[in-house]
Amino acid sequence: MAIRRICKYGERILEKKTRKVDFSEIKKDLPVLIADMFDTMDAVGGAGLAANQIGVDLRLAVIKIQREGEEPLSIVIINPEIVERSGSMNEEEGCLSFPGLFAKVKRAAKVKVRALNEKGLPIEINAEGLFARALQHELDHLDGIVFIDRLPLMSRLKLKPALMKLKPRWKKLDESKMRPL
Ligand SMILES: [Zn+2]
Repeated sequence: MAIRRICKYGERILEKKTRKVDFSEIKKDLPVLIADMFDTMDAVGGAGLAANQIGVDLRLAVIKIQREGEEPLSIVIINPEIVERSGSMNEEEGCLSFPGLFAKVKRAAKVKVRALNEKGLPIEINAEGLFARALQHELDHLDGIVFIDRLPLMSRLKLKPALMKLKPRWKKLDESKMRPL
């Protein structure tokens, strides 16, 4: 198991739709990849991570939701698709590929997602609230869409100076991660 480097905004792999997973083809590499994705996400306290965020071009993501007083909900989604969405919410969102940046993003309040799990079995997920938000955010990544793409043009323009300020810090963040503890 290992912590992988997280790709940051501006890197091409985040702007590309990911490749559909052929489960039998990657089956033997999957346990290590999934373990690394959870390790990487946990190391920075994220709620979700898409494979392309660690430079892997596959339609696969992991999600970990921690609700107060409950065991964390960890889930692997392979080739996920949203099949139903309803309602709307407008809550603050962040992204591991944009450390330090937060913005309110409009999302569906409830979604139904079909995917394969880590064993290659079909699953159907009905989610709302934070879980629904995380699913929509990660599925967007797999389609090459980042959260600021969901903002109105004016808000995106307003974020530009903040992004320019944050970018040099991301490089330092990567360098500090490479140093042994
Ligand atoms: Zn993200």
